[in-house]
Amino acid sequence: MSFAKLSPPKEGGRIRILGDRWEVPSHPVIPWIAGDGIGPEVTQATRTVLTEAVARAYAGKRGLVWFEVYAGDRAKEKYGELLPPDTLQAIREFGVALKGPLTTPVGGGVRSLNVALRQELDLYANVRPVSWIPGVPSPMVHPENMNMVLFREATEDVYAGLEWPRGSTEALKLLRFLREELQVSIREDSGLGLKPISEFCTKRLVRRAIKFALAKGLTRVTLVHKGNIMKYTEGAFRDWGYELARAEFPEVTVTEGELETKHGGTLPPGKILLNDRIADNMLQQMLTRTKDYQVLALPNLNGDYLSDAASGQVGGLGVTYGGNLGDNAAIFEPVHGTAPKYAGKNKANPTAELLSGVMLLDHLGWGEAAVGVRNAIRAAIGSKTVTYDLARQMSGATEVGTQEFARVVIERFSFS
Ligand code: NAP
Repeated sequence: MSFAKLSPPKEGGRIRILGDRWEVPSHPVIPWIAGDGIGPEVTQATRTVLTEAVARAYAGKRGLVWFEVYAGDRAKEKYGELLPPDTLQAIREFGVALKGPLTTPVGGGVRSLNVALRQELDLYANVRPVSWIPGVPSPMVHPENMNMVLFREATEDVYAGLEWPRGSTEALKLLRFLREELQVSIREDSGLGLKPISEFCTKRLVRRAIKFALAKGLTRVTLVHKGNIMKYTEGAFRDWGYELARAEFPEVTVTEGELETKHGGTLPPGKILLNDRIADNMLQQMLTRTKDYQVLALPNLNGDYLSDAASGQVGGLGVTYGGNLGDNAAIFEPVHGTAPKYAGKNKANPTAELLSGVMLLDHLGWGEAAVGVRNAIRAAIGSKTVTYDLARQMSGATEVGTQEFARVVIERFSFS
C-alpha cells in the first residue's frame, strides 16, 4: 500500500466489507476527513466521544485507530486539489471513513465532493435513519411517531450529473437527434438533463432495504416513486423493486394485494409488507400516517426531498445523519453542511456527526459502545444541556459549546 502524501498508522487493522459481511479487527484503522467550515470542530468532538466510548465499553480490548485523510480545503492546502487520489485509496484500503461536511461551490462546473466520493467508491445506498430524540424541538405534535430508515439511491437518476446548458454544442446535438431520430420537439432554448434509472442499481438498493428490514425485525418496506408520470424510470423502479422481492424474498414479503387476498388483512408474523407510494402522496403520508412506515427505498431525487422532510419532523439539521454504503466501502457523515458563519467559534452542534459515528459503531458490530453513546446523547439533550441551535428553542436550557457538549455526552455514558 503506497500513498503520495499519507502515512497510515503502524498499528491497527483493515476492515473488510464484503457486501453485508463486515470483518472487523479489534483495533480497526478509521480514516477521517475533517471537513470544511464547522467540520473540523464537530469531527474533533465526534472522535473524542467515540474513542472514549470504545475504550470504556471494551476496557481497552477494542479501540479505534484514527487516520486523517484529506478532502476540501485541507486537501487543497496539502495537495493542491480538493479530492486527492490518496483519500480514495485510503478509504478503499481501510473500508470506511468518518467525514465532516465539505463545501460545494454553487455552479461554475465544480463537481460536488460528496457526490464524487459516493460515485468513485460506488457508495450506492445513502441510508438515513430518522427518529426523534426526546427534548429536541420539533414542529410536530407527535415527533415520537417518526421511526423511519430511508434508503436513497446514490449513483444514478439526477446524481448521474448528465446535463447540458442551453445552447451548448451537446444540448444542440441532442435536440437535433431527438427531433430527427425520435420526432420529439423541444424548445431550442432549453437546458437538457438525463435521468437514468437502471434495473441493476434499483435492485441492489431494494435488496439492501429488504435485508435491513429483515435483520432489524421490521415489517414494512415502501417503494417511493413518481411512476405515474415517469413510467420508465420511476415506474420501473417500483416494478423492479417488486420483481426483486418476488425473485429473492418470496417467502418473507407480502404485497398489499396479497395481504387482503391471502392473509385476511393481517400480516403474518415474520413477514414484511412490501408496498409502494407515489412520492407526493408519501410526503403527506409521512405527516399524517407517520407510524405506518418503517423502511423506505427511493430513487435519488425523491430520496433527497423525502429524507430532508422526514428529518424536519424530528428537529432538522443539527441532529440528522446518515451512512453512504456500498458493497466494499462506507462513509458516515452528518447531513448538515459547513455552516460557515459558525466556523471556528466552537458553537456548532456535533450531535449529527456524533450519531453518524454511532451508526459506524453499529456497523462494526460494536453495539455496546453504540448504545452507550446514543443513550448519553439522549441524556444530555434531555437535561437541556445543549448547543446554541437547540438552546434557542428550549426554555431553561444551559448553552454549551461544541467541545463542551462532547464532554457532557462523555459524562453521561452508560453501558449497561
Ligand atoms: P448548512 O451548512 O447545513 O447550514 C445551514 C444552517 O443550518 C446553519 O446556518 C445553521 O442554522 C444550521 N446548522 C447546520 N449545521 C449545524 C450544526 N451542526 N449545528 C447547529 N446549526 C447547524 O447549509 P448551507 O448553508 O446551505 O451550506 C453550506 C455549505 O455546506 C455549502 O457549501 C454546501 O454545499 C455544503 N454542504 C455540504 C454537505 C456535506 O458535506 N454533506 C451537506 C450540505 C451542505 P442557523 O444559522 O439558523 O443557526
